[in-house]
Order: sequence, then C-alpha cells, then structure tokens
Amino acid sequence: MALQNPYRVVDKPLMARSAVVIDRDFLKHDPGHFHPESPERLKPLLDLTGELDSQSFQLLAPRPAAREEVESCHSNDYIELVQATSETNLYALDGDTLTCRDSFGVGLLAVGGFLKLLDSIAAGEFRNGFALVRPPGHHALRDRAMGFCLFNTAAIGARHIGRHYGAKRILLMDWDVHHGNGTQDAFYQDPSVLYLSTHQYPYYPGTGAVEEGGVGQGEGFTVNIPLPAGCGDEEYLRIFKEIVIPIGGKYKPEWILVSAGFDPHRRDPLGGMDVTERGFGVMASMLLDLAEKHAGGKIAFLLEGGYDLKALKSSVAAVLQEMKGESGGEMQAEKGGEAIRPLIRKILNFQEKYW
Ligand SMILES: [Zn+2]
Repeated sequence: MALQNPYRVVDKPLMARSAVVIDRDFLKHDPGHFHPESPERLKPLLDLTGELDSQSFQLLAPRPAAREEVESCHSNDYIELVQATSETNLYALDGDTLTCRDSFGVGLLAVGGFLKLLDSIAAGEFRNGFALVRPPGHHALRDRAMGFCLFNTAAIGARHIGRHYGAKRILLMDWDVHHGNGTQDAFYQDPSVLYLSTHQYPYYPGTGAVEEGGVGQGEGFTVNIPLPAGCGDEEYLRIFKEIVIPIGGKYKPEWILVSAGFDPHRRDPLGGMDVTERGFGVMASMLLDLAEKHAGGKIAFLLEGGYDLKALKSSVAAVLQEMKGESGGEMQAEKGGEAIRPLIRKILNFQEKYW
C-alpha cells in the first residue's frame, strides 16, 4: 500500500497552467515601412505559441479594453485624439509613434488582452501568464503618445488590479532597455505600485536617473537602475541579486507585473546591451520565485520592446520555459559584473533610507 506523506507541501497545483495572450489581430497595427515596431514582430511569436504544449499553456484570445479602463491612466482628450487617427491611413502622434486606421482598435485590444489575463490569474484559472501584445506601452503618458506606445498597458493593468482586487502592493518590474517614463509618471506619487526599472542610460527617453525615486506618498517606491551600455547577463544577474530581489522581498508584493522588453538582447538593433535569452530566463525565474514567495504565484509578463526577430522568439521562449517550471539552468553572478559594483553601491546608498 502506498503511503502518502501528510507533510508534503504542494506549492504549485499540477492543474494550474500558464496563460498566453496572443492574436493575429495584433498584426493590424502598422506604423509604416521600415518602422522597427513592425507587425513582423508578432510572426515568430505566433509560430512559437502555435507549438506550445497544451498541458502547460493555454492560449487566450484578447478582448478590447473598455473606454473607462483606458481612462484610468489617460485623459479623455488624448483617447479621443488616438481614436481620431482611425480616419487616416498614416498619422504621426509623435516623431516615432505612427498609426494606421486599425491602430486605435489594436491598442484597445492590447490593453484588454492584458486585463483579461490579469482577471483570469486573479480568478485562479491560471497560475501566471504572458501577454504577447503590441504596440508596446511603457512610454505612453497620460496625455501623450511616445516611443511607439499608444496606451500604457502595464500601468492600466496595475490600476486594474488595485481597483478590482484591492491590491495595495504591486511590484512592476520593467527590464526593457528603455526607461518606462510613462509608467514611472503614472505611479510617481503612489506607494501601491513599486516601479523598478533597469535601462540603458543615458538613452531614450532621457529619464530614469538614480535620484528619481518618487515624491509625496510615493517617495521610495520608484527604483531606477540606470546602466551603462554593454551590460550583459552577469551585470543584470548581479543587479537582480543585489537590488531587485532584496527590495522586492521587503516590499512583499501581492502581485508582480513585468514590462518585458527584449531590446537589451545582444542582437537588438536599437539597444546597446549584451543580454542573451538565458539571461532573460534567469531574470524571469527570479521574479517567478519572488511571486511564489509573496504573491501566491501571481505574476504576469507583458511584451514591450524587442526588435530582432530571432532574439525576440528565443527570449520569449526562455521566459515561457521558466513559467512552466522548467529551469534553463543556474547562472553565477560571481564570475562577472564587477565593473558595475560602484553603480550598485550608489543605488543602494540612495535607496537605503527606504529599504
Ligand atoms: Zn524599448
């Protein structure tokens, strides 16, 4: 007779799968020829998700966001401006943020897709998830499109969790190579969202200095980690081990959201970093562990940038593998990353009074 160990701790129920939001409709937002944020970005991801094992993953179709959901982070006038671009074949909202007739609708679908993912995780239908949507969102400000972004999907997602599920501590990690100025701005005075960003600096959009740490009630709840060009897996791993995970652990998040841009990849044509797909896998696994420890496993990844198609596919695959609970292997920070020690010290010195 088989005996069961009554003390066995089951921390991940076997039936709980991961959800992936993706849809061919995301191909319809076309910012014009030669634009790096091209519909082509979605194709390798459609290929990848078409082959996912259905024991571990379920594909979710997105829904359009409702007007009032977008209004949680954007002004009425701005939403109307974006809506009006539906009447023009090609419209420039700013120097590098262009729209076509379908862009407004696709923008709503990106936001709604992420919100649907968050709702399904909150309901316990999935243990975690990844929204593979476009356009990206983290540069979008309340009143202004910027840097390929129309609506700030991550920020709207964080507001949604606060409003609908009463979450008071949401950790929003942004590892895109660009600083998420729109997301920082949305929560700069708000302690219910701890915004942590690793980004190349100085670089577009120019924000994200160490000293930008939040104001008023939000003071101490923005953690900027501006990095010199050339940082790779070892530097990022060191940053995660010494800053992101320790501060995240003290915050004890109820939810974790990840603005996952893959433009820090060494192959990326826009970023100047040296991260590999393994590096993204390790970062994801550390955040998954943090979510398991504090947030009942609730973590949702959201695609931001990433402009090399091969790197995008392999990096998303590495994150999905970690979500499934299959580790791609350990990585030792001790071997390298020494050069950024003074920067780590500077950041920890600044954050010391808060964490
Ligand atoms: Zn980016």
